[in-house]
Amino acid sequence: MTGSEILDLYSPRSVIIGKSILGKIPNVIKSLGLDPKVMIFTGPNTRHIVGEEIFNVVTDQGMDCEITIIENSFLETANTYVDVVEQFKPDVLIGAGGGKNIDVAKYCLHQISRKIEMISVPTATPHDGVASPFIFLDDPTETFIGECRPPVGVFADVEKILNHPDLVRYLAAGVGDTIGKITAIWDWKYAWRMKSEKFSRFVGGVLENADNLFQSQVSEALIDPEHTVNVVLKALLIAGVLMGTSNDIRVGYGSEHMFSAALAAQTPDVDIIHGERVALGTIMMARLQGQDYQQIKDILVKAGCPTNIAELKEKIPPDAIVQALQSTHKMSSLYTVLGRTGLTNNAARKLTQMTGVTNTS
Ligand SMILES: [Zn+2]
Repeated sequence: MTGSEILDLYSPRSVIIGKSILGKIPNVIKSLGLDPKVMIFTGPNTRHIVGEEIFNVVTDQGMDCEITIIENSFLETANTYVDVVEQFKPDVLIGAGGGKNIDVAKYCLHQISRKIEMISVPTATPHDGVASPFIFLDDPTETFIGECRPPVGVFADVEKILNHPDLVRYLAAGVGDTIGKITAIWDWKYAWRMKSEKFSRFVGGVLENADNLFQSQVSEALIDPEHTVNVVLKALLIAGVLMGTSNDIRVGYGSEHMFSAALAAQTPDVDIIHGERVALGTIMMARLQGQDYQQIKDILVKAGCPTNIAELKEKIPPDAIVQALQSTHKMSSLYTVLGRTGLTNNAARKLTQMTGVTNTS
């Protein structure tokens, strides 16, 4: 197998970021050479933003298409969507809208043995799942399910994203998720040194460079939302594609994401976006790792991403952070800075205060 074939297998064929680009979707479907039967997974709100428009461009080309509204991404509900897909038997599944529609589409690919290709059409910039092969269900607690073939196409319509009602917050959260690569790569290298885990110097190096570039671009970009959307989208898409090419979740998942899952488990009904939880986790894990957590905070502050609990949209008690920190090491079998036993209550409490996550003074 040649290098290009490897990339072909694990990375999207078309990644299109631009304005008014949904009309290009039928061409990508045609290029697959399949009998074009299409199913669109979209949300109750995002159907009006992208779902119906995609339906129109696809059916205008004479393709058979159905829309399915995704209510939530709990495992039990996701299984009912697998049944819907089994009945309609599409060749192409389009996840259009928020992350849950895309994750449920990936889950269907994972569960169904027949070959189905997937296209992802994000309407916001909350996380890197839009281009990666990894599947997380049970929003917001983020249970890792496994991996599927990555999407063959990613269509990010900048105009739709700019019109997102919570644009500023979602952009900031996208920065939060991207900055999490700093601690994820550290954990990956640490596991390589401590446990001889496989580490890709190539992917790690590319990601570190991409992240540095991203950090330097964030501050200039913030003046212009359109430029910020482009920068954040590219960073998230690169991370997602690298996850696919390396086939290793370590690229974008370390102790900061495990903290995010632990915090979601502590505060399941509180409105905190994935990238916001990851940002708080990244600050604290960076300090444990001996990295410059203050610099990370500075970037997050510039981006308008919360760096302490007082800045979250809905308030949570400091104890929720301490409890989450103490259970973070249990959220995945990955070896990280937290080792196998995690933090004591005292160490967790000090960490939240020293980093200013619970103490804003
Ligand atoms: Zn993430």
